Amino acid sequence: MSSAVSIDVLIVGSGPSGISTALHLVHQDKSWANRILVVDKAIHPREKLCGGGITHLGQNVLARLGLPIGVPNFEVREVRLVYEKYQYSFYGNPVFRIVRRDEFDHWLVRTAEEWGITVRQGEAVKDVTVHPDYVEVVTDKGVFHTQLLVGADGSRSVVRSKLKWDDETRVARLLEVLTPEDARQEVLFRDKVAIFDFTHLAGGLQGYYWDFPSYVDGQPMMNRGVFDSRAQPSRPKADLKQLLRDSMAERGRDLSDYKLKGHPIRWYDKKGKVADHRVILVGDAAGADPLMGEGIAFALGYGVPASEAIREAFARHDFTMRNYSQRLRRHPLFYQLQVRTNLARFAYWLHYPWLVRLGWQVARLIIRLTPWRSRDFVPALPPLMVTTRGEP
Ligand SMILES: Cc1cc2nc3c(=O)[nH]c(=O)nc-3n(C[C@H](O)[C@H](O)[C@H](O)COP(=O)(O)OP(=O)(O)OC[C@H]3O[C@@H](n4cnc5c(N)ncnc54)[C@H](O)[C@@H]3O)c2cc1C
Repeated sequence: MSSAVSIDVLIVGSGPSGISTALHLVHQDKSWANRILVVDKAIHPREKLCGGGITHLGQNVLARLGLPIGVPNFEVREVRLVYEKYQYSFYGNPVFRIVRRDEFDHWLVRTAEEWGITVRQGEAVKDVTVHPDYVEVVTDKGVFHTQLLVGADGSRSVVRSKLKWDDETRVARLLEVLTPEDARQEVLFRDKVAIFDFTHLAGGLQGYYWDFPSYVDGQPMMNRGVFDSRAQPSRPKADLKQLLRDSMAERGRDLSDYKLKGHPIRWYDKKGKVADHRVILVGDAAGADPLMGEGIAFALGYGVPASEAIREAFARHDFTMRNYSQRLRRHPLFYQLQVRTNLARFAYWLHYPWLVRLGWQVARLIIRLTPWRSRDFVPALPPLMVTTRGEP
């Protein structure tokens, strides 16, 4: 089609994975800024259902780009893992940070724009066709011909679905509500504690209930929800709404008083399809963590191997992208992701409560041997002490 816009790299999705891929390309070589286009159906700041917890893994990816998190965030000093009456805690300064995703993703997009990257917002991708020499991408506003397409469009990826790479066996289910709180009264706000409560493992939940203290437009809100990994997809599905209702009732809250929202997370497995001729997937479109449902750190992390694979494809004029999956497997972050996938399959297969209780006791002892026992432990790299991008 003659009116098609030609571009070297088209990134569909301006969440953390898409923007991180663009930032990593430009961080390496600023001339990439003119060769990339990011399109997103939403206009930032856009709503994104998410707990907003960013661990040191994600903070370190940003730190290596020279970017301290540029939005307000809640510093969690203690992560408490609960099973029935048993519990153990990780400590840190902080263990992780809680952001609001509308603010965080908007900040990432603004940063990308400051780095010279064009982000076309309010433009939805409708179709994708791979040709030998280019990929045709049809949006509701135009047509693009790109040398390389990056699908960064989340767990319900249109890119993945148009290419018929769908695989419904690796999809976690999540429900979330926000409840207004009095930060002076609520102990989790005062002591900066996040709770992961696995008690409903016994009720068939392959995951946990969470309480994350956070601030929405300056107002204290508890972000509460349930995560069901479905790491064992053949097991019967737990009644998530009922489990959330029960967990909230234990905390003196009635679920029907609040607005309930749900969204899936696609999780990673090294055998999953993440690349083919002229197309790669990043972030939730490729897969996140099924053990804890952590996705932001990995979404940011995908930017590293994805940008390396893109640079290599253009340098060698080889767009088969056949090494991308292997590149992910070799990267320490994605090696860790696969370990989490294997652990999730094991942990959510266990159905002996006595064994889980024993696991909790053992974990409590093991934590004492790690730096996570100290409230002063700082796991994240300080952003200002890492190599920053050279001035243009
Ligand atoms: C309830 C819930 C709680 C969570 N809590 C946490 C947490 O506390 N910590 C954590 O680390 N992870 C959490 N996650 C996971 C985390 O939200 C994701 O892993 C992360 O958002 C993935 O980033 P991404 O960039 O791959 O995709 P997204 O952030 O989903 O971004 C995808 C982008 O693609 C755009 N897009 C989609 N379709 C199209 C289209 N057709 N055309 C153009 N653009 C399109 C969307 O508008 C969006 O901006 C949670 C997830 C859920 C559902």
